[in-house]
Amino acid sequence: MSIKENYQEIKKTIPESVLLLAVSKTKPKENIEELYQIGVRDFAENKVQELCAKYEALPKDIKWHFIGHLQTNKIKYMIDFVHLIHSVDSVKLLLELDKQAQKHNRIINCLLQPKIALEDSKTGFSIDEIHNLIKEDFFSKLKNINICGLMGMGTNTEDENEIKKEFTSVKKLFDELQNGYFRENHFFNILSMGMSEDYKIAIEQGSSLVRIGSTIFGARDYSKQQ
Ligand SMILES: *Cc1c(COP(=O)(O)O)cnc(C)c1O
Repeated sequence: MSIKENYQEIKKTIPESVLLLAVSKTKPKENIEELYQIGVRDFAENKVQELCAKYEALPKDIKWHFIGHLQTNKIKYMIDFVHLIHSVDSVKLLLELDKQAQKHNRIINCLLQPKIALEDSKTGFSIDEIHNLIKEDFFSKLKNINICGLMGMGTNTEDENEIKKEFTSVKKLFDELQNGYFRENHFFNILSMGMSEDYKIAIEQGSSLVRIGSTIFGARDYSKQQ
């Protein structure tokens, strides 16, 4: 099947209310253009350099999502055009994003990434840390950051019960924050959970945005990534 067909097949299996985000990392711009032709505008990358190269080369009405670990010294390259940063995983990063956003006269949309997976390799805020930041009213100090929700990354495992348990815990935190601390913030409405292997479970647990790469574009060849 073609990339377009893959996209349309997945789209059929997800509710209208869930955004299907095409994860185009490592894939050439021609693959993105193929989906652009059928009206797809949301694409995601996980490397700043690759994101910037694709931004330069492609139509400017694309909404670029960033889903990788972001180093503070790379913020400046994408601050002018990035649509949503899903993977905000530290206070240091939030402060630097706020500073750069002020400098560039922008309000930056961000999701907080709570650490839920069993693997140590995954980054993120602990749930306690998020609660402590709320107690300090830390988020209201970030004038140029719009906290739009949470991103959950499950453990890479075949154990569906473990994945389900992790997604349930992110959804629980999301509901608490949406009905509590962020209740006046109407932008706080994105729950980014689910990838090719686990998006069905994620939607059952309340995801509003799924990030799908390999099922749309085919397997990735990391040896070609810069
Ligand atoms: C690569 C990536 C995806 C997409 O993964 P697939 O398994 O190819 O669908 C989703 N989210 C993040 C954060 C990623 O890095």
